[in-house]
Amino acid sequence: MEDVVKDLWFEPGEILIGGRWQRCRDSLAVENPSDGAEIAEIARGTAADIDAAVAAAASARAGEWGRMTAAERGRILSRIGQAVADRAEELARLESLDVGKPLKQARADALALARYLEFYGGAADKIMGDTIPYLDGYTVWTLREPHGVTGHIVPWNYPMQIIGRSVGAALAMGNAAVLKPAEEASLTALAFARIATEAGLPEGALNLVTGLGEEAGAALSRHPGVHHVSFTGSVGVGALIQQAAAANAVPVTLELGGKSPQLVFADADLERALPFLVNAGVQNAGQTCSAASRILVERSRHDEVVERMARAYRALRVGPALDDLEVGPLISARQKQIVEGYLAQSDGLDIAATGQLAANLPEGGHYVAPHLLTGATGDHRLAQEEIFGPVQVVIPFDDEDHAVAIANGTEYGLVAAAWTQDGPRGLRLSRKLSAGQVFLNNYGAGGGVELPFGGIGKSGHGREKGFEALYGFSTLKTVAAWHG
Ligand code: NAD
Repeated sequence: MEDVVKDLWFEPGEILIGGRWQRCRDSLAVENPSDGAEIAEIARGTAADIDAAVAAAASARAGEWGRMTAAERGRILSRIGQAVADRAEELARLESLDVGKPLKQARADALALARYLEFYGGAADKIMGDTIPYLDGYTVWTLREPHGVTGHIVPWNYPMQIIGRSVGAALAMGNAAVLKPAEEASLTALAFARIATEAGLPEGALNLVTGLGEEAGAALSRHPGVHHVSFTGSVGVGALIQQAAAANAVPVTLELGGKSPQLVFADADLERALPFLVNAGVQNAGQTCSAASRILVERSRHDEVVERMARAYRALRVGPALDDLEVGPLISARQKQIVEGYLAQSDGLDIAATGQLAANLPEGGHYVAPHLLTGATGDHRLAQEEIFGPVQVVIPFDDEDHAVAIANGTEYGLVAAAWTQDGPRGLRLSRKLSAGQVFLNNYGAGGGVELPFGGIGKSGHGREKGFEALYGFSTLKTVAAWHG
């Protein structure tokens, strides 16, 4: 077993309910995707554990946590953020072992978690209601109040970032949270919960139940004591979550998948664009909701873009997460099978280049070389479906309208980017592209916690990150007083 897991400062087989760590009867094995070795066991929480976690969260709302001022909550969150920053290196190593992401990418995730807590800690006491001019004799104002108990169901690809943006914002507004991380990647969630309690988060404000989606996850999404559900994950499960929450008529935030395009016009600054074009396809081995899995290129520069991207692809090295190369393994044997299944259906497409698998890769690891594919039209299966692996397809276009038609021609609408030096065209595209975020002459804008994020269409609804998330994790009460 890896040292970093053996010497953990928390017990991965426990769940956190009402400030108490406890064991469950059954457990699940945790695999290191880089070599297939079992590195730990986590608890397999049940519906009964979710009941207990929801009850503990409700007590926290009625107790110390619920009575705290916004400024006090903010101070606690900021303290947790500092503690996360202090342990960023350990968290990063843990994430690399659990998810398989190269160390520098895991480090960025740990620092993002710290930054979310700093941001939401600072924002907690800056969310206010309004006064509304109204009829003579009335004074009317609004109050921003927490939903109550919030449920957070998180995927395996960016556990720390997603916990930061969803749990961080929910706690800032005074909700009490129940967190269900993904069964494939729960270790940093457990570490975070331990850090948060040690940094002074009152008992029950955050409860954590590890376990399977169809058991603990489903129980959380249908629980009548949960007043808001934040889900990040696949479209299919997102629809189930929405159905389950509908039975209790509670709001949901769905952060789902994508098939995001980057549009490269003939006047693009290719030197600047190139790293964004490639990185946004292979970061986290392409297992990113906002991966730029489609690169649309104006026909006159198509061959040049392909040639330059191909050169960059050939320099990509794939290896174990702790070797910290450009690309790590996929999360699981199942995910590898899915990605290879797509590659087997790339009929009609050409492989412009692949990355290189490092020599002597551990046998049990789930490695797939990045693939850059050309010759696609917008309606090819590989240009329509989310592959969730290191695969990008390049599609030529003739003019702006054609580019927009291809870009908007999927069920998704998460991210779109355009590379052009024509300012008015950039502004036009910011209106025409169907996506929750549009980036002009960049991709992702460095992922800043300040920027609201979310999708349209099958990419989901609701917004997390930024101030916007604080509105999502609260409800508005209107008070009208008649005083004559
Ligand atoms: P997934 O939907 O399989 O699982 C996500 C979470 O849901 C896990 O915690 C899982 O245990 C739980 N779950 C599974 N079945 C459930 C059920 N029936 N009821 C309740 N919970 C259940 O997704 P995944 O494979 O872990 O993640 C990959 C997907 O997530 C991709 O589609 C990706 O695009 C998406 N994603 C989106 C964003 C975003 O911000 N839009 C960010 C990251 C990932």
